[in-house]
Amino acid sequence: MDFGLSDEERAIRDTARDFITREVMPLEQELLRRERAHQPGLERSELRELQLKARKFGFWGLATPAEYGGMDLPAVVQSLIWTEIGRTFVPFRFGGEADNILFHATAEQRQEFLLPTIEGERNSCFAITEPGAGSDAANIRFRARRDGDDWILNGEKTFITGGNEADFAIVIAVTDPERGARNGGATAFLVDRAMGWRSEFIPTMGEGGPASLFFDDVRVPNRNILGEVGQGFTLAMQWIGKGRYTIPSHAVGIAERALRMAIDHANTRETFGSKIGTNQAIQWMIADSETELEAARWLILRAAWTVDAGLDPRHASSMAKLYGAGMVNRVVDRVMQIHGGMGYTRELPIERWYRQVRLYRIFEGTDEMQRLIIARDLLRGYTKLGGHLG
Ligand SMILES: Cc1cc2nc3c(=O)[nH]c(=O)nc-3n(C[C@H](O)[C@H](O)[C@H](O)COP(=O)(O)OP(=O)(O)OC[C@H]3O[C@@H](n4cnc5c(N)ncnc54)[C@H](O)[C@@H]3O)c2cc1C
Repeated sequence: MDFGLSDEERAIRDTARDFITREVMPLEQELLRRERAHQPGLERSELRELQLKARKFGFWGLATPAEYGGMDLPAVVQSLIWTEIGRTFVPFRFGGEADNILFHATAEQRQEFLLPTIEGERNSCFAITEPGAGSDAANIRFRARRDGDDWILNGEKTFITGGNEADFAIVIAVTDPERGARNGGATAFLVDRAMGWRSEFIPTMGEGGPASLFFDDVRVPNRNILGEVGQGFTLAMQWIGKGRYTIPSHAVGIAERALRMAIDHANTRETFGSKIGTNQAIQWMIADSETELEAARWLILRAAWTVDAGLDPRHASSMAKLYGAGMVNRVVDRVMQIHGGMGYTRELPIERWYRQVRLYRIFEGTDEMQRLIIARDLLRGYTKLGGHLG
């Protein structure tokens, strides 16, 4: 068993770390200042400028196939890079990416949607959740009706990340209510904003916010179907599957950075004539945080490894998402406790992380849905206990 990284993996991770440290972290104070003034954090043009700079260092399209100019990195290396990105609270991501399911595009769709998205010229959003269907995603009611060579879309999608900024939406709609979404009754559509849908900002406890999307008789040509008619639910699950190891990878970066701050604070802050780090109460919080971080790190890397090995990653990814999301919430909470009153102020990013990471237990499959998947796999015998060890 080898728990080490190869020289190449380490080199890629270190270059990503250098970039984040030198180019992105210096923007942190300005980001906090803008957010406190209720201004947008990072402008689209600023993000793009950073992404183009990163491109010069070779960081472009972590998951994008080489034929589209991407790095096409193994999931393990992508996971390591998402951890580096998580170290900064600037909402940065490397460019050259597109939603994984957009690669099912036809030749025509490739020109219109995929390539401009990879280049950062167009922004997408992915929409399955509805007011009446979140965890129970197969219960969607958003309807697409055939009308000659077109489809007419009606309904509401909600909590859509990037829905306010998107130029087009990947929308999962019911095309055959008799069959139900899970049995070939749902289809994915590529819908330009110019076709007539509108979005409304949803204020949340995090910075920025998702959107509700409203479709009122929006006419979409048949050529805008992504994949096949009836393949929508499968594509949706494929889209969601990606986040199950990238989200907790990001969480590891946040937790490491926050814990570093707590250790530094414990080594400098004095009460009753000694450093707070000399108290066992503080030491235990640090020890528990590091132990949970390490456990999360290996669960996540194993989930990513499962993807690279071409195995079904669902069980491992659900454990990684469940544990990673819980871990970062517990670590950030302890880090705030160690900082005392200062941790609660807006001078430090801790309260910001506290608000941000709460979402990790909710979106792209709640804690409860991950537990449901893990338990069901075991109860039905799809996965053997400890089965991955052979
Ligand atoms: C900021 C944000 C961004 C998001 N981005 C996107 C996006 O880009 N695209 C998109 O399509 N969606 C997005 N979502 C939606 C997100 O995936 C859903 O909110 C999530 O899946 C939960 O669905 P729900 O909110 O309807 O909760 P519900 O499904 O109503 O669940 C409510 C509670 O009941 C629990 N529960 C439900 N069923 C069971 C059960 N069988 N057993 C035990 N407990 C259960 C849930 O775990 C949860 O705790 C986003 C959400 C947020 C908040």
